[in-house]
Amino acid sequence: MQNFTFHNPTRIVFGEQTIAELAALIPDEAKVLLTYGGGSIKRNGVYDQVVAALEGKVFFEFAGIEPNPSFDTLLKATALLKSEQLDFILAVGGGSVIDGSKFIAAAACYDGDSWDLLCGKAKVQQAVPLGCVLTLPATGSESNGNSVVTRYSTQEKMAFSSPLVYPQFAVLDPTTTYSLPLRQVANGVVDAFVHVMEQYLTYPVNAPVQDRFAEGLLQTLIEQGPQALQQPEDYAVRANVMWAATMALNGLIGVGVPQDWATHMIGHEITALHGLDHAQTLAIVLPALMQQQRQQKRDKLLQYGKRVWQLAHQDEERLIDEAISHTRAFFEQMGVPTRLADYSIDASAIEPMVERLVQHKMVKLGEHGDITPEVSRRILQQAL
Ligand code: NAP
Ligand code: FE
Repeated sequence: MQNFTFHNPTRIVFGEQTIAELAALIPDEAKVLLTYGGGSIKRNGVYDQVVAALEGKVFFEFAGIEPNPSFDTLLKATALLKSEQLDFILAVGGGSVIDGSKFIAAAACYDGDSWDLLCGKAKVQQAVPLGCVLTLPATGSESNGNSVVTRYSTQEKMAFSSPLVYPQFAVLDPTTTYSLPLRQVANGVVDAFVHVMEQYLTYPVNAPVQDRFAEGLLQTLIEQGPQALQQPEDYAVRANVMWAATMALNGLIGVGVPQDWATHMIGHEITALHGLDHAQTLAIVLPALMQQQRQQKRDKLLQYGKRVWQLAHQDEERLIDEAISHTRAFFEQMGVPTRLADYSIDASAIEPMVERLVQHKMVKLGEHGDITPEVSRRILQQAL
């Protein structure tokens, strides 16, 4: 186990009917910016519950934060927050609304061009406090310090991290997820699964407690994910998927162990250039990356195959092959295709993606820093 510090400051309020608790969670004197997306919260009743809980508080609304939130849209929200002198953000939605709100929180306190915060030129020094109501279990954004924002004019999707943008609280009512389209349910399960893999499928560091946490989450997602598609209103299934997705990226399973994140970084370039859903890009890249990095990840691939998929081959190469094919089959079973060709992307698209990785300094990816642009190219070729 490697040395670490672990601190997650987000208060999780979990369960049915918990949105009403916003009344007590948001400070009385706060002037609130309520942020949300394209209107799903108006159709499923979440908006009404939130507004009822905000009764007596001063609040303004900013609607229209897109999936893969747009930098330009978020600048408009930042301007509203500043002009009305609002001092608390309540984000209601999925990862895009929460990520976008974290960016607003940081941009509002930054004097220069706020793209600096995303391209690595400046670090977040201060941020407006925020809280959230999660409606889409997937990203873990409700309880971490990460934010991913897209600038459509330049086709760039960039991330920043700061302890200052952890939500102060996250309300997780599994019944809010009943209205999710199946594609988003599937996306969420795949994203959470890959978050665990990014922190698990590296190399052993004598951290069985971390391995067992990760394997438990993977098995839960494998078991409950398909059930969430089949029985959308099964509360227990939704609750387990929701909590698993939070646990997948709230920092706990990633401390003390090496981390990879190459699948995410390559995936961001696919979304930026071709507009695929985040989880679709992960389902494409991960199986190809497992294949490409099978020597470096050998010990963990064997452990993953045996413990998560209960594979029992004597032949280790075959066991690894099957661990990879089971992973691919799981994504496909969830309804998320795993080849670039499934999204009409062909070999001519690979070079521009590799160029973007170089431009964004993504040239030493993975737990060993050995995923150079040449290796990323091979991964994308594998993924055709
Ligand atoms: P999302 O982009 O927030 O939402 C996808 C769609 O689902 C939207 O159209 C949204 O509608 C809809 N939706 C959300 N909740 C719903 C509900 N309960 N019922 C019906 N429809 C609902 O999806 P996401 O997967 O959570 O977030 C993806 C983003 O997060 C990507 O930009 C990705 O890069 C980023 N990400 C962040 C982290 C992190 O650590 N912060 C990690 C991984 C990925 P509305 O527009 O109406 O809300
Ligand atoms: Fe993700």
